[in-house]
Amino acid sequence: MTKAKSNTTETRGFETEAKQLLHLMIHSLYSNKEIFLRELISNASDAVDKLRFEALSDPSLLEGLGDNAQPSVTIDFDAEKHTITLSDTGIGMSREEVITNLGTIAKSGTAAFLEGLTGDQKKDSQLIGQFGVGFYSAFIVADSVEVLTRRAGTQTATLWRSSGEADYTLEEAEKAETGTSITLHLKADETDFADSYRIRSVVKKYADHLSIPVLMEKEDFSAPDSESEEKAEPKPKEYEVVNAAKALWTRSRSDVSDEEYNEFYKHISHDFEAPLNWSHNKVEGKLEYTSLLYLPGRAPYDLWNRDAARGLKLYVQRVFIMDEAEQFLPLYLRFIKGVVDSNDISLNVSREILQQDPAVESMRSALTKRALDMLEKLKKKDLEAYTTFWKEFGLVLKEGPAEDFANKERIAKLMLFNSTQSAGSEQDQSLEDYAGRMQEGQEKIYYLVAESAKAARNSPHLEIFRKKGLEVLLLSDRIDEWLVSHLRDFDGKQLQDIGRGELDLGDLDDESTKQAQEEVEKKLEGLVSRVSEVMGEKVKSVRLSHRLTDSPACLAVDDNDMGLQMRKIMEASGQEVPEVKPIFELNPEHPLVVKLDLEQDEERFGDIAEILFAQATLAEGAQIEDPAEFSARLSKLLMTLG
Ligand code: ADP
Ligand code: MG
Repeated sequence: MTKAKSNTTETRGFETEAKQLLHLMIHSLYSNKEIFLRELISNASDAVDKLRFEALSDPSLLEGLGDNAQPSVTIDFDAEKHTITLSDTGIGMSREEVITNLGTIAKSGTAAFLEGLTGDQKKDSQLIGQFGVGFYSAFIVADSVEVLTRRAGTQTATLWRSSGEADYTLEEAEKAETGTSITLHLKADETDFADSYRIRSVVKKYADHLSIPVLMEKEDFSAPDSESEEKAEPKPKEYEVVNAAKALWTRSRSDVSDEEYNEFYKHISHDFEAPLNWSHNKVEGKLEYTSLLYLPGRAPYDLWNRDAARGLKLYVQRVFIMDEAEQFLPLYLRFIKGVVDSNDISLNVSREILQQDPAVESMRSALTKRALDMLEKLKKKDLEAYTTFWKEFGLVLKEGPAEDFANKERIAKLMLFNSTQSAGSEQDQSLEDYAGRMQEGQEKIYYLVAESAKAARNSPHLEIFRKKGLEVLLLSDRIDEWLVSHLRDFDGKQLQDIGRGELDLGDLDDESTKQAQEEVEKKLEGLVSRVSEVMGEKVKSVRLSHRLTDSPACLAVDDNDMGLQMRKIMEASGQEVPEVKPIFELNPEHPLVVKLDLEQDEERFGDIAEILFAQATLAEGAQIEDPAEFSARLSKLLMTLG
């Protein structure tokens, strides 16, 4: 069937990464073999979309299709030869394109992905689902594959052949029409795939939602007539469409099953697993468009890669225009996958034009609202699924308040935090939950930023809040300090960092407490100035604390100083970080502090003050400057024990 034009065959090795991936594919995905058909049909559909798009500006590209002009993919099989062939009327590939597309893996982050593999086939097969299996899935069922392809607008075809091991061959070949035809030679134990019923049911399952018609030979149910069989002319093959062949988003919601929504998601996202939720809307009026947004259940391996694919698939009047149209959603919603099909954008739009189109701008703000709606609904309907989402993408959503001022309050409502009310270290409390539990007289939402959930939970800063039964949000994600610097209030209540500035509990402290505080301050004036002298330049100031009950001392950050997390972020990005000195606070109620006040021996006084300072530093989760000195001082003191 596939004839080489000349006898010069070039053999090339697969790129190392492609080889690794091939190996993994063949050995990890054995439990779901039929997906190869989905992947190959999905590629055919993409290729047909691309041709239609390129033909918008160069109609001559369609000439190579001959009589075959209907966009389609045809599946033939031969039960005796054990082959399946998929032929599409798509864009086809040039020789160079064959080499890059089928011999290498161009996806960004491939190396990182491969490094992340565990060698455990079960786990790896889940990972590979995230990566998107694509063309190589043909080798799950085939021991050799031929790709005969002719790029639209060119005359010669290329024949690619491989058995999926180390290398592949390339030959110049002939092909009557442009497009691609892929033949799988099925492995000995996979031959039952070459069966009409089997293929049809897989196509139904995986390709019903695609707009591309999938054609198969019409089944001939007439009884075989043994006498006339030999004389009969071979009948010309007749084909029929075996899938619904209507772009899913153009159908009405009530017409589409969950199963179909799931499959369509897999087609556009390259994810293996079902999405958590979706939102399908047709908008009519000044602007006309249809959108279908999906919320994935799992972060892709390259979520934090700057060049990672993001954005929606853009169609204009059902014609595919581009993948990864980033203009339709803000960055903090970059995990959303989906399709937008507009009637108002020009067919020959470019990325640059999209950026300036006011129609795009208003679609963006509407789609942002849709996406937030979808999240709100999920949170209401299925908190467990929402928690899954939050674990995977919460860090991204936390970028929201800084990027999207207009929707700040809505985004804030979607956030989950760990708090002193949480049972464990999970982020499971919303700001609304917190607000609902606020005490009478409490005006602010209290939070504490720390290095880790554990450090936050054990921080001495919480002592007074525990005593008074006041809830505190415990923030330990690296982005949190930055988040709260943009999210200054919620529902009219100010967010207050309890590790910062002088603690003022406002009306929560009664008059007598305030009076007592003033008295003790007067009484311990001398102690404070003696400790200040010992500390010298190490601290910004020394003062008495009203936030401690059990610990003798703690460190606080001055109101306008940069916190530890923010300094770390700046340091990591190579910026100069301003020096920040802590405020050293002493607990006037603590016996150690009371004793210290009475200490006459200046050397001992100095040692105790230094030890208290070191302890307070450690409690912040920070490092002490001179551990050896600290340890020497501590030993000296311990020696004096009776
Ligand atoms: P993906 O579809 O995610 O890009 P695949 O492994 O499925 O990855 O395919 C790799 C590339 O090979 C495609 O991006 C496309 O450029 C090319 N390709 C695969 N199948 C076809 C086809 N039937 N027609 C044209 N190009 C194809
Ligand atoms: Mg593909």
